[in-house]
Amino acid sequence: MNTLETLKSTDLDVSAIRRDFPGLHQSVHGKPLVYLDNAATTQKPTAVIEALDRFYRTDCSNVHRGVHELSERATKAFEDARVVVKHFINASREREIVFVRGTTEAINLVASSYARSRMKAGDEILISALEHHSNIVPWQLLSEQIGTRLVVAPISDSGELVLEEFERLLGPKTALVSMAHVSNALGTVMPVREIVRLAHTRGVPVLIDGAQAAPHLAVDVRELDCDFYAFSGHKVFGPTGIGVLWGRADLLERMPPYQGGGDMIRSVTFEKTTYNDLPYKFEAGTPHIAGAIGLGAALDYVSQLGIDRVTAYERELLAYGTELLRAIPGLRLIGTASEKSAVLSFVLDGIHPHDAGTVLDRSGIAVRTGHHCAQPVMARFDIPATTRASLAFYNTKEEIDALASGIRRVQELFR
Ligand code: PMP
Repeated sequence: MNTLETLKSTDLDVSAIRRDFPGLHQSVHGKPLVYLDNAATTQKPTAVIEALDRFYRTDCSNVHRGVHELSERATKAFEDARVVVKHFINASREREIVFVRGTTEAINLVASSYARSRMKAGDEILISALEHHSNIVPWQLLSEQIGTRLVVAPISDSGELVLEEFERLLGPKTALVSMAHVSNALGTVMPVREIVRLAHTRGVPVLIDGAQAAPHLAVDVRELDCDFYAFSGHKVFGPTGIGVLWGRADLLERMPPYQGGGDMIRSVTFEKTTYNDLPYKFEAGTPHIAGAIGLGAALDYVSQLGIDRVTAYERELLAYGTELLRAIPGLRLIGTASEKSAVLSFVLDGIHPHDAGTVLDRSGIAVRTGHHCAQPVMARFDIPATTRASLAFYNTKEEIDALASGIRRVQELFR
């Protein structure tokens, strides 16, 4: 039996956790807020809010440049956050942790620096049919620039990667595999370990988009054996505008800078510029210092709860929600993979998701409606949009009950 199976939902004190999140305690349209839009962004614990506040109140200074006390404090807090990130994803070196704006920027960095400098016309980038636009469009831009080709591995009706097809599409021209760890629209947990294994047997490097995995699952980049891993701070209870690209040092070392400017150089003359060491080579300009510090506080918070406890609790919540929603006539769940993270995406017969979302909002229930920046997923299921409830460790069964009652009210209204 693995650790997850021995853990119980009661291992997490959700009432105490909820007290740490001031944003959860408010009324919306006169009803207590039920926040079920965590795949879009998460609420922030007091520890994160206070870390940001502390930086701006007492340590506010630029990093890496000053000899004065405030700059030293800011630099230490910023670099300490990098160490926290390193532990959170079990990377082996701090220099492999590049602070970026988020998953989107991390993928664009790999496309602009790694891919553009190494690939040629006809080379293929293999993705899956459930990717977020952030893991589609950067590769299309690259195709326009240098003539690479985007190849898409299909997904099944339940929203799972068709592994045999993926393997078949991994060909002599495949130059990179880039895949989500967890789908934002469907919740599918991808078989990333197997994806990496298959790609590596053919010498193909793998980028994992971990935007929806980092908040819910233990991420161990060494165990996954991937080559790049990207995630966003704001989805893992940290601030917006900060995220992480992890890359193998030997790859990052050989990649050209992504942007030019301050901090990424060792010396500059008009004739020639030499670049700084990792990770600074990829961190041009003043970084989001407070954001990185806040992200460190967020990851510390999650680590204190225990990510395995979080996963176990959310599994129970998802099973509970799935059963409840499945019992509602006229509701169809989109995304029914056997390995799923805490996402309940659904359509209601004869009711547009935007109408459903608007009515739910009047009951204080925050869900997302639309294509979830994954239009090809919607096309795959032949629907324009879904209503998506996405859970986090601070959600409760009572909130899922409220969602189910809300859905029934929507159906009555539009009957
Ligand atoms: N990939 C996935 C799977 C996502 O869910 C998201 C955000 N919805 C992104 C990438 C992009 O993240 P960000 O907007 O934080 O850069």
